[in-house]
Amino acid sequence: MESIYNLDYQNSSLENKIVIGFDRISQVFKTLLIEESKHYNLSPIQIQLLIFINYHSENKSTISYLSKEFNLSKPTVSETIKTLEKKKYITKISDKFDTRSYFIQITDLGKSIVQQTEQYVNPLVNIISNISEANKVMLWQSITNIINELNNIQLINSHRTCTNCQFYSQNNNIPYCALLNQVLKIEDIRIDCPEFK
Ligand code: SF4
Repeated sequence: MESIYNLDYQNSSLENKIVIGFDRISQVFKTLLIEESKHYNLSPIQIQLLIFINYHSENKSTISYLSKEFNLSKPTVSETIKTLEKKKYITKISDKFDTRSYFIQITDLGKSIVQQTEQYVNPLVNIISNISEANKVMLWQSITNIINELNNIQLINSHRTCTNCQFYSQNNNIPYCALLNQVLKIEDIRIDCPEFK
């Protein structure tokens, strides 16, 4: 099979160029995150875990959940959490039903670090916000379709998407959320919903 990194082959097809475009954009996320981490003496994964814990519920702030979410081994997540605890950015709270387990809670110091570091995505936010509404909706439809396909072949752990949710249904191809009690337009589809079941 021809390589999409071969420039003649890459430039001969739109799908090849789109894949290379995603590759470029994902590099930008990595670069921005690495740059941000240098300012705070944190590793990129430490920043990502702090941001995730800050914005998700307790049951998602456990070693098992985080290791699945970030595709990391449990020992790697445990070590990262230990370091964040030493820095006083998180605390461990014992599970009252199972004393061997705990969930992770962010401290006020951790929250202030999140407020500063989460800005690393702003250059991308600014670019996207300048796209027309119609093009944003088309882009969102393509992105959610790609995420669903990646989820189907288990290359992405996006459990919390509408199409995976028990409140989601389709009537005559029209998506509907029974919890919000509303038809879901393309722009309403979520890929990380706090109400997901
Ligand atoms: S909006 Fe939330 S609750 Fe409704 S279907 Fe989507 S994921 Fe489920």
